[in-house]
Amino acid sequence: MRLIFAKSNKKTTNSLVPFSFERRDLRPDDVEIELLFCGVCHSDVHHVRNDWGGEEYPIIPGHEIIGKITRVGEKVTHFQSGNTVGVGCLIDSCRECSPCKHSHEQFCDNNTLTYSDKDRHDGTATYGGYSEKIVVSERFVLNIPEGLNLTGTAPLLCAGITTYSPLRRWHAGPGKQIAVVGLGGLGHMALKLAAAMGAEVTLISQSPGKEEDARTHGAKNVVISSDAKSMEEVNGKFDLIIDTIPYNHDLNPYVNTLAPQGALVLVGYLGSLDPTLNSAPLVYRGKTVAGSLIGGLKETQEMLDFCGRHGIASDIEMIDIQDINQAYERLLKADVKYRFVIDMQSLTKE
Ligand code: NAP
Ligand code: ZN
Ligand code: ZN
Repeated sequence: MRLIFAKSNKKTTNSLVPFSFERRDLRPDDVEIELLFCGVCHSDVHHVRNDWGGEEYPIIPGHEIIGKITRVGEKVTHFQSGNTVGVGCLIDSCRECSPCKHSHEQFCDNNTLTYSDKDRHDGTATYGGYSEKIVVSERFVLNIPEGLNLTGTAPLLCAGITTYSPLRRWHAGPGKQIAVVGLGGLGHMALKLAAAMGAEVTLISQSPGKEEDARTHGAKNVVISSDAKSMEEVNGKFDLIIDTIPYNHDLNPYVNTLAPQGALVLVGYLGSLDPTLNSAPLVYRGKTVAGSLIGGLKETQEMLDFCGRHGIASDIEMIDIQDINQAYERLLKADVKYRFVIDMQSLTKE
């Protein structure tokens, strides 16, 4: 099988270039999926630019995958050729540990990421969705509900589940005040999902000019983070904050906006905090600063079904794979409404 995809060819290169490789043969429980669409997550940019360190190139990003099954292994029971399916950030795990048994595969010590990881059976590099086809165990394949537009569904496989999971864990719903920090791919999904769960939602953004879009996505209020007075007006307000900012930032002003016993959940930035976190508001008001990582397979299917029932999909800008480097530059400037999705048919263009 010959495939063409994009890769980063040097350690810290900023650009993706075409590349060919072979997908492995199907194991008995594998399905082969022909890619239709693949979302562009900010994590793809972090990996390509080695923001988190330890990257081994070449890599093939892409973990917001929608495609059609073209072949199934002999022991596959849940899918057949022709099914439209999704694949997210995980393609394997040990299946035996406590997190796996509770369908929290994202916390399995021996799980396998869709890309930038090693296959747990043969040790080969895993390559993601900026490609023609992918081969995945059926256990890590998601059903796509009828009626959702497929282009806008691709980002649900990462941006959707990453925001749905903390909203559920911290009980978003009627009577809850929720803030979303950053209106990008994750942020706009968080607004839509929290509003659909019945919560009152506020966007906190660094960018003036996103107010109208935020309201369309379900925000009742918008606060510009650099406006100290507006930030002060929401002091003590939020039961839950989902913070999607990808880089280091001062958490203290956001913690001030939490209600007693409220939680600020980081999903974006990984690393030490600078300035450091003042623990006094945490102790005096019982506040929590927490983190959250995508979601397990069961919850991802639950999220897709929820989106199917509520007609929720991502707002996307469709691109060809040839536009990927320009798309990354725009993503870094927070200039996308609100997720790039690659039309994988473009891989066959010269
Ligand atoms: P994105 O589309 O680029 O959105 C990030 C938003 O953060 C921007 O739109 C911007 O919103 C705000 N922002 C504030 N400071 C920024 C800065 N210096 N540079 C760029 N944006 C800035 O990113 P995304 O795909 O939503 O991902 C957000 C973060 O979550 C990334 O770090 C990604 O790696 C991470 N992530 C985590 C998980 C997980 O499981 N925890 C899963 C997926 C992604 P405003 O203009 O409104 O301020
Ligand atoms: Zn992602
Ligand atoms: Zn496990």
